[in-house]
Amino acid sequence: MLISHVIQDSSVEYEGQHALVVFTRGCNARCKYCHNKALLDGEGDTLGTFEDALARYITPLDTAVVFCGGEPTINLDLLECLRTARNAGLRTKVFTNGLIPDILIKAASEGILDACSIDFKDTLHVAELIDVDIWDSEYITRVLYLANKLKERGVDVEFRTTEYDKQVGNRVEFFIKDRFGDTIPHIRQRMQEIV
Ligand code: SF4
Repeated sequence: MLISHVIQDSSVEYEGQHALVVFTRGCNARCKYCHNKALLDGEGDTLGTFEDALARYITPLDTAVVFCGGEPTINLDLLECLRTARNAGLRTKVFTNGLIPDILIKAASEGILDACSIDFKDTLHVAELIDVDIWDSEYITRVLYLANKLKERGVDVEFRTTEYDKQVGNRVEFFIKDRFGDTIPHIRQRMQEIV
């Protein structure tokens, strides 16, 4: 897996941990508000492989690795990278749009995934999904399936939503509360904060 850039010693992306955040390249969605458009086609500058980045940028303070993107799950070697991080004694977290649940469920079953942030898209308003033949209702099914399976396997799950407008945020929040009560935290991010 090639890494485009990293953030060192972050205490923001993984609550309670000090993390090396690695940004993977390529994504299977095209959200209007994407904060990392340069990464979406999987090209551009790279720092090298995940192993290179880990060896070069991890610091003694770090207790975790966080995979962001782009969409980390489109990389077939994500599992191998999670194993490498675990073997280095680090906790792991993945940010995902939830479109490819199986690789994360596999990681959770193997005990190499500690936390997952699922960016719950309002597909109707803000995301034009590509590369994946999927209907909106199927997307929601996949996201709920992912969240349930990860929780069953002891992974810390959180939802995030980027609000296209307040009504959208309210609707997604209502939906998540209806399905999960307060068992999964939901973070709302205002669109104008990241464009
Ligand atoms: S899923 Fe994330 S990385 Fe992909 S287009 Fe949407 S915001 Fe950007």
